[in-house]
Amino acid sequence: MTKQQAEKKTVKFETEVSKLLDIVANSLYTEKEIFLRELISNASDACEKLRYVSQTDTNVKKTDNFEIRIHVNEKNKTITIQDNGIGMDESDMQANLGTIAKSGTEDFIKKLGDKKGDINQIGKFGVGFYSSFMVSDQVVVRSKKYDSSSSYLWTSDGKGTFSIEPTEFNMSGTEITLSIKKDEEEFLSKYRIEEIVKKYSDFVPFPIFVNSEEDKKEKKDKEEKEEQVNSAEAIWLKDKTKIKEDEYKSFFNQTSTYYDEPLQTIHFKAEGVVNYTALLYLPKSQPQDLYHPDRKNKLKLYVNKVFISDKLDSLIPAWLRFIPGVVDTEDLSLNISREILQNNAVINKISTAITKRILKEISELKKKKPDEFLAFWKNFGPVIKEGLYEFNDFHDQIFDFSIFHCSEKDEMITLDKYINDYANDKKKIYYISGENKENLLNSPQMELFKNKNINVLLITDPVDEFWMPMKMKFKEYDFTSITKGEVDLEDTKDDKKESEQPKENKDFISYLKDHLKDKVKDVKVSKRLTTSASCLVADENDMDMHLKKLMAANNQTISDEKRILEININHSLVSKVMSLDKNSKDKFSEILYDHAKLMEGENLDDPKKYTNLIAELVSL
Ligand code: ADP
Repeated sequence: MTKQQAEKKTVKFETEVSKLLDIVANSLYTEKEIFLRELISNASDACEKLRYVSQTDTNVKKTDNFEIRIHVNEKNKTITIQDNGIGMDESDMQANLGTIAKSGTEDFIKKLGDKKGDINQIGKFGVGFYSSFMVSDQVVVRSKKYDSSSSYLWTSDGKGTFSIEPTEFNMSGTEITLSIKKDEEEFLSKYRIEEIVKKYSDFVPFPIFVNSEEDKKEKKDKEEKEEQVNSAEAIWLKDKTKIKEDEYKSFFNQTSTYYDEPLQTIHFKAEGVVNYTALLYLPKSQPQDLYHPDRKNKLKLYVNKVFISDKLDSLIPAWLRFIPGVVDTEDLSLNISREILQNNAVINKISTAITKRILKEISELKKKKPDEFLAFWKNFGPVIKEGLYEFNDFHDQIFDFSIFHCSEKDEMITLDKYINDYANDKKKIYYISGENKENLLNSPQMELFKNKNINVLLITDPVDEFWMPMKMKFKEYDFTSITKGEVDLEDTKDDKKESEQPKENKDFISYLKDHLKDKVKDVKVSKRLTTSASCLVADENDMDMHLKKLMAANNQTISDEKRILEININHSLVSKVMSLDKNSKDKFSEILYDHAKLMEGENLDDPKKYTNLIAELVSL
């Protein structure tokens, strides 16, 4: 019997650890790759610990050449993760790799067993190491503590016991070798491992090298230098004054799917109620998925430089989903579960704070660089305005920089400018919505407003049609569609109420109401038309006309209430139809409805019939 065999001891895992190992080894988790994140995180912690000791203990040689090496051996079917950190001695091994240190873990294990737990949070309970058994059927740990001359070997197949024995290991640090299970051979690919490292551990502050047995053979001949897989630098934690513009740019490209330059970099550290650092960007161009129904954001959450999630909806509102960047906080524990994160008070506070900050930066951009703002607004204005459609505390900040086309000025204006420069006694913000600015300016419903120089917002972003009627007010001003309900501008002296109209006009209107009853809800003498013969409007409480078209185009079910036909009683076409005998009226009055439809840019059921009728009417 050799000396080493004599000193080998086999120990039973704590009952809870055995339970956990059983669950971990036999469950079908889809996120098995996180085992590597856990082992790298441990290796990184070990390096951090030794760095601290070497900086504070004068008896220890100052070291700073820490690194993490991963070796894939396809032939032996093993992966080895090695670090030159603090290392473990025999008692560390026994305490750390055989028991459960943290309270609350039993509950977590029970939940995992009942399939209600989230394997992703395994590290939070100080049991991340055991996730190695998801992919391996044997784990071997060799380690030497920085202040010890002996090294130890820990071995286990995860089935109830582990053993510890002395070994030869000529460096201080730890080496963990995983024998990969038959079904998990995807992890024996160097490229797969590199992908996982990049995904979860890119900014772990020590270099990570990945190589394989194949590489070793090839590199012997060529003596190539190894390439570091991670960028190893948490740029967001660096001093702002020491970061160059092109470093910010390359991180922007690396952390997002934007390939151009950022429009603006927002980098700040917050201390107080919540502590975090944020590095965010205003992009110049639209991402491809801007209007994807998932509305996924582009922010990554880190806890002390360790990647936690890039799928956290609660980190930033969906209407800022185009903002890429990183938020790193010390106020959360590593590996906190996704469900908990979604409703986490710390995350909610961070979300509110970064949203306010981003909106403030956009306001500043508008003031200081109006041309750049305009280009930004074109790309992202419609998305940001989704924020007005939902209940939140940011409406005032969004209104501060939101701009709209309008009828009285050739530039886009804010709502504040509208109510200051174009105030009206009725305290209304008038708007009309449609496909494009030019058509809107020429629409019949605009005629009176143009005559009276009353400014009307020309709404071409569909999102505005949703929030404006819902929001109802800006300051004390009501949003009022001019294609809906009555116009209530001050009456001019020529305006007459319907009841004051001469009898022949009244008779003609009631005739039309009856004759066109299948097509329109009502017929009225128009106050808004000055040059056109007729137009259509929605009834006060019905859905606005353009919104209805939008929804129909998106295959949404909409109520099919009819519109109101308004007649310009002074128009020659109207006078002409009015002067006809009953039979001819029956024949020609439809022209007034078709005319209104054409003004709305709609197709006629029978355009040929319409042109024939016009030609015939002219020759009468
Ligand atoms: P956690 O890292 O959350 O404490 P783990 O189960 O992953 O939980 O690890 C348990 C402990 O084992 C660690 O706290 C650490 O003390 C020790 N350990 C794990 N890996 C290493 C390593 N590479 N170097 C030194 N100690 C390690």
